[in-house]
Formats: sequence, C-alpha cells, structure tokens
Amino acid sequence: MTPGVRPLIAGNWKMNGTLAEAIDLARSVAAAPPQKADLLVCPPFVHLVPVAGALLKTEVALGAQDCHAAGKGAHTGDVSAPMLADLGARYVILGHSERRADHGETDATVRAKAEAALAAKLIPVVCVGESEAERLSGQAESVVATQLAGSLPQGFAAAGGVVAYEPVWAIGTGRTPTEEDIAAMHARIRAELGAEGAGLRILYGGSMKPSNAAGILALPNVDGGLIGGASLKADDFLAIAKAV
Ligand code: PGA
Repeated sequence: MTPGVRPLIAGNWKMNGTLAEAIDLARSVAAAPPQKADLLVCPPFVHLVPVAGALLKTEVALGAQDCHAAGKGAHTGDVSAPMLADLGARYVILGHSERRADHGETDATVRAKAEAALAAKLIPVVCVGESEAERLSGQAESVVATQLAGSLPQGFAAAGGVVAYEPVWAIGTGRTPTEEDIAAMHARIRAELGAEGAGLRILYGGSMKPSNAAGILALPNVDGGLIGGASLKADDFLAIAKAV
C-alpha cells in the first residue's frame, strides 16, 4: 500500500458469463458492506448497460475492458470512450496483454486509447507486464519501463490514471512472481513516473486470489489488484477486497 492512496480492487470479467450471471454477480458484489478499497467491475461490452443498472446507487464503479482511440466515426464493431462515459462507466482497462496479443495492440495504440479515455473523463487502467522469457533473461523491469514510456500519455498520473502490473506469465496460470519481485517492479514503476507518480495507483494483476491477496496487497507501492478468474465469484472477489 501507499500511504494516503485509496486502494482499488478491480474485476476484469473478460469474455465470460451470461447476461443473467453478469447482473447476479454485480448485485452480489454491490451487496457487500463498504470496503477499505474502491471496488470496480469490468464486464464485457454487451453487459455494461444492464450491469450499470444493477450498480445504480451503489459504491461499486463500472468499467469497460477496452475502447477505441477515436471519439466516433466509421469503426465497425468498436466502442468509443465517450459512449462508455455516457452509459455510466468510470474506468476503462487498456493495453491488457490479451489485447496486445490477440489484437496486435502496441504501446502507441494504448497511448492513443488512453488519451481518448482521459478526454472522455474516464480513468484509464493501463496494463503492462513482461513475458516469461523476458523475466528469465533479466529484462522484466526494462521491458515494463519501455511499455510505460510508450503507453502513458502526458498528464496520465495527474489525471488519476491507474497502472496495472500484470506479468503475462502469471495471468490465469496460478503462478505469481515472488513478493520481492512484485515489490521491486512496483517501486520501479513509481520511480519511472517521477514526481507525478507519487499518488498513482499501481495495481498488481495475475493469479491474485483470496489465499495470496493479503501478502501481495501489503507490499509497498501495491495499491490494489486487477483480478481476472477470481473476480467471477463474488465471494472470492470480496475476500480479496477484505484482504486490503
Ligand atoms: P487472472 O487475470 O486473475 O485470471 O490471472 C488477471 C487479468 O488478466 O487481469
């Protein structure tokens, strides 16, 4: 944790669930008593509007998993940041490694999307993280520093932007870096942002679950989590939030 920074526990539901399951999950998360962290759920695009309804008048924030870099126009199948803001989303995950891998997103793509998100008054959650080969060859920190330099627009931290450190090899695998490695990477991320990064929320993501959350969330410069698999069960997600 970082003193004075309110943690964020974010659920990345990815491409999972029926409409009924999404509403049920949102209601279950929202039914929990107030937490020591901000709570955020990021359903698939098609479930955003009904989940927004389920979260009305609750403390749980809504986010999307991507947006287009353009505000509007001829982009078949895409969704813009102003559209997300209009339906009540407050956050948008950008540059997740699955989008970088599946859709060829580069640091420049992610930066353009983050600019669009900030212009629409959405809070971007920009994901960075090394592959296993990069970690094994000792390049993890330099890879992440390069991703940060390329992916974050000017004024990102000052505007409330969030960084999620997600080692690619830890996502959905049940494996995590050591707590020492997580702490070292989070310190490096904060240092890369300079003075502007003092209040930046830096989330850890990658196989976070109730059994490892307390240890990870207690580390310096870890200001919350981006949770995939364990966010699909309200009990697990809330247990992670309680570990803050
Ligand atoms: P995981 O996913 O918690 O299932 O590892 C995290 C993420 O991809 O955001």
